[in-house]
Amino acid sequence: MASKRSNFNRRKSFDAVRAVVNDVRVLVARGLTKSYGDVQALRGADLDVAPGQITALLGRNGAGKTTMISIIAGLLQPDSGSVELGGIDVFSNLDAAAKLTGIAPQETGVYGVLTVRENLEFFANLAGVGRTERASAAAEVADQLGLTELLDRRAGKLSGGEQRRLHTGCALVHRPQLLMLDEPTVGADVATRAQLIESVRSMANEGAAVIYTTHYLNEVEALDADNVIIDAGQVLARGTREELVEEHRLSGLEFTLDAPLDAAEVERLGATNTEGNTYRTTDDRPIGALIADLGSQSEGLLGIESLRPDLETVFLAVTGDRLDEGAS
Ligand code: ATP
Repeated sequence: MASKRSNFNRRKSFDAVRAVVNDVRVLVARGLTKSYGDVQALRGADLDVAPGQITALLGRNGAGKTTMISIIAGLLQPDSGSVELGGIDVFSNLDAAAKLTGIAPQETGVYGVLTVRENLEFFANLAGVGRTERASAAAEVADQLGLTELLDRRAGKLSGGEQRRLHTGCALVHRPQLLMLDEPTVGADVATRAQLIESVRSMANEGAAVIYTTHYLNEVEALDADNVIIDAGQVLARGTREELVEEHRLSGLEFTLDAPLDAAEVERLGATNTEGNTYRTTDDRPIGALIADLGSQSEGLLGIESLRPDLETVFLAVTGDRLDEGAS
């Protein structure tokens, strides 16, 4: 069973590698560095994204996520490194790159005096959508984000959650090949979150590559995203949750006995003592095999369970710290 699962995970890794080998990447960013005065925000970060792939950029406050996506969108010049979108160099082709990308920065940036429709059509125009297609593009996005009833309302008269949806809509109205959303659900209620997540999924299903930054790991799990963990301006890890769990040997079993094991027994079982009489294994051993290994000591078992590490545990293992500490 366990080896089947590892094969499955390995297979997924191979698929990811194959996508890169086939050179179907929308984005290839290499060796990005950026300092603001004394602050080194990025220290040689790489990022590859393929069509239809949702990449969650995870990191604590100040890790460098916004700096990275601002550079990828051509809004900020790196000190060194390169960004290619669909095979073109972003900084020598800013206009062409802008048509390929859509970015919704952290701060909501819609025009309060314009209606929802006018905002959507304005951003579609900026991204090169022709006059005749703008109205249908705006209507389609409004439908996708539940804004149809509000198309003729001024953006300044929308609620915070409605503005968030419009802000995201303006980034995707031209159906970009690369969509970047920087903490799109901050301050959004449950329904708005669900709508935004559904839109991200449908963009990816249509073939767009999506880069998504958030501090809400349940959203990342819901999106089944490929995770890129960034810390102090460097990419520390990349992979699906399952791949990262396997790579960092976080799966296994936890069991509690009615009496402590002696050190030699702990070693023989390949376990570690977590607390009290509770021990952990981090290999692929099934429960039955562990019970057999325990022999007569299994009579003292008070509990045994499979560890199902969540993304927070993975983040902690990779960075040595929790994601939500100090999160906004
Ligand atoms: P958050 O999760 O808080 O949004 P982040 O991962 O997006 O954080 P960045 O905004 O990229 O992080 O910031 C990276 C580092 O660069 C931080 O130390 C930040 O204080 C610093 N920084 C960002 N923008 C500027 C700026 N314009 N001037 C000076 N320092 C900056």
